Amino acid sequence: MSNPALYEAARLEEPDIPRCAACQAPFLPAELHDRRQVCTRCEHQVLTLLDAVSDLWSQLPEHLLKPAANTGGGGGGGGHLEGSAAPGNLTVLSLLAGEAAARLATWDTHWRERLGWTDTPLRGRPDHALRQILRFLRDHLPWAVRNAGDLVAGLRDDARRLVGYMRTATADARSLVPLPQPCPYRTPHGPDDQPCGGRLLMDRERREIRCVHCSATVPMHNWVELGIAVGAFQPDAA
Ligand SMILES: [Zn+2]
Ligand SMILES: [Zn+2]
Repeated sequence: MSNPALYEAARLEEPDIPRCAACQAPFLPAELHDRRQVCTRCEHQVLTLLDAVSDLWSQLPEHLLKPAANTGGGGGGGGHLEGSAAPGNLTVLSLLAGEAAARLATWDTHWRERLGWTDTPLRGRPDHALRQILRFLRDHLPWAVRNAGDLVAGLRDDARRLVGYMRTATADARSLVPLPQPCPYRTPHGPDDQPCGGRLLMDRERREIRCVHCSATVPMHNWVELGIAVGAFQPDAA
């Protein structure tokens, strides 16, 4: 089949074909041969997210004394990023004090358990802990994509939320514009068919829209898709 679109359609119609544990896309022949549980695209996405955590982590200290953007919690479940009258940015403080490391430490622990390792690593101060966790996850990602697809999917979801959270915490308050529509996306572990309902913020600096609650992130080239999801316009008009 020479037409890639036809090939894609044929693969999607086949219900029994093995699929990526993270994105549910059917595997390419090379990925099947490689005995993967997670596709190469999702593996790269996880690496990109871990790099983003590392980058944002080094930017956090310079944002510590800047006032937090008043992003409002809003919506189902409420976000953590309330604007604060306290001096400095409490979200940044909390991330630096261990929250960033704690959010990824869960996956470090799950992966070690799946590997059958019983020793608990000494974490030390948050900076050391985060770098240690990032190194472990990067080093063992090639193992995890072939042996623990469910755990890669979980890490991907949490890393995506953490990156969104860190981006909002480090954004210039003037660059964030609250949008009137609630987040239309489903939270990964939330109830089925229930939209998240969190507050959406447009980040003019980074040219993306993020949800404060679930940290769903929509880059500018996908804003049409978001506009349809919130009912701002019909697919035909897009
Ligand atoms: Zn995938
Ligand atoms: Zn959301």
